[in-house]
Amino acid sequence: MSLSEQQSVEQEAPAGEDYHLWHPFSQMQKILGAQNIVVERGEGPYLYDQNDKRYLNLTSCLWNAPLGLGRQDIIEAVHKQLNELSFAALFRTAHRPAIDLARKVAEIAPKRLNRVFLTSNGSESVESAIKMVRQYFHRKGSGKYKVISLENAYHGVSYGALAASGFADDQQGFGPMPAGFVKIAQPFNRDSQTEAEREAFEIACAEQLEKAIVAEGPETVAMFILEPVQGMGGAIVPGQAYFDIISETCKRHDIKLVVDEVTTGFGRTGTLFASERFNLDPDVMCLGKAISGGYFPLGAAVATDEIWEAFLSDTDAMRFNHGSTNAGHPGACAAGLAAIDILTRDNLIADAAARGEAFLERLQELKELQVVDNVRGIGMLFAIDLVRDPAGREQLDAEAMDMVAKACFARGLWVHIAGSRILMLPPFILEDSHFDEAFSGLKRILSRVPNWI
Ligand code: PMP
Repeated sequence: MSLSEQQSVEQEAPAGEDYHLWHPFSQMQKILGAQNIVVERGEGPYLYDQNDKRYLNLTSCLWNAPLGLGRQDIIEAVHKQLNELSFAALFRTAHRPAIDLARKVAEIAPKRLNRVFLTSNGSESVESAIKMVRQYFHRKGSGKYKVISLENAYHGVSYGALAASGFADDQQGFGPMPAGFVKIAQPFNRDSQTEAEREAFEIACAEQLEKAIVAEGPETVAMFILEPVQGMGGAIVPGQAYFDIISETCKRHDIKLVVDEVTTGFGRTGTLFASERFNLDPDVMCLGKAISGGYFPLGAAVATDEIWEAFLSDTDAMRFNHGSTNAGHPGACAAGLAAIDILTRDNLIADAAARGEAFLERLQELKELQVVDNVRGIGMLFAIDLVRDPAGREQLDAEAMDMVAKACFARGLWVHIAGSRILMLPPFILEDSHFDEAFSGLKRILSRVPNWI
């Protein structure tokens, strides 16, 4: 599933002729015909709509605002930067906030990652990574160009990122997709019940990488891209064995390991980057979302020295012919520097992860409810899978999920509905009382679902 399950709640009906905003991943007919939330302001973990109704932001907006909204420290940093220099290009010339941000990101990035190519969003980071790796091999005179990725992966909307993504619905009607993209299974299966079954399934999935490489021809495969923990794919957290196998396979076949940490980066899974947690040694890391705390569009593709060096030459013909006007905007870099400073301060991420762990344990109680099939999570990332009938485990349909969304929003709980799943990626600033509010609301709503189906 994708962002396309946009929730709408009875509020204000935008009139057709006078409504010009075309929403992303949204059925505009539903938005025009129904009544819709217009968010007017945000404060800490809360959003307020046009009627001043308050919502607990259990998704950190689109998981990009883990520090909450309206923080004066970040706003002032951006304000100061825009006063000083509102824009300057990075095409050959530089500006100070970009230089400082790149240094900061290189300093905190896992292992060999050291060179920071700034972008404006996650899709652009993934697109940059794909082009970077393809061109790296081209520079080396190699024929490697294929990209292997996972089913149910979400990597973004531009053509390369979309082709690497694994949601068939999102690709429908946009074809033909670019050539050279190959999928293998996501390391998750609803039928694996015990720990041993789960591990065996994950190992089989990891071994699919080897099989796919051999089937395609190792001399043609450039990279394997994965979200260490799939977010949109359903909070899928593989065990260490999975990561050890895919890492070894990539190294043995000279295939670049690209981690998409657009969602997992900056603390979502309990460590600054999920790559640290799973001992990954990526060749490129894609960043976005929380890198600026959601205060300015920003992203980055962070590469090793080895990749960067392949582009060094005294001729322009060897340069990385890629980039966009607003990538690394001075205001975005200032927001990034301020957000990273806060995120890496004290024990903010570890404390959030500890509260997340307690919340996940509590959420497990929901499995007693008739419609709850599975509850998963890590750090501050949670998924609840809903079913119609626990025995047959038939997933809840779109109509029932619409009711779930409406009930959550009516109760002031801002969640994300993806297919038959509730996703929550709360801000790191939530306190015990917020988790109580979320848990009791969800329990009440989910216990009522059998009446609606
Ligand atoms: N990769 C992942 C893992 C994501 O979750 C997303 C956004 N949901 C993207 C890439 C694309 O980022 P953006 O929407 O900023 O282009």
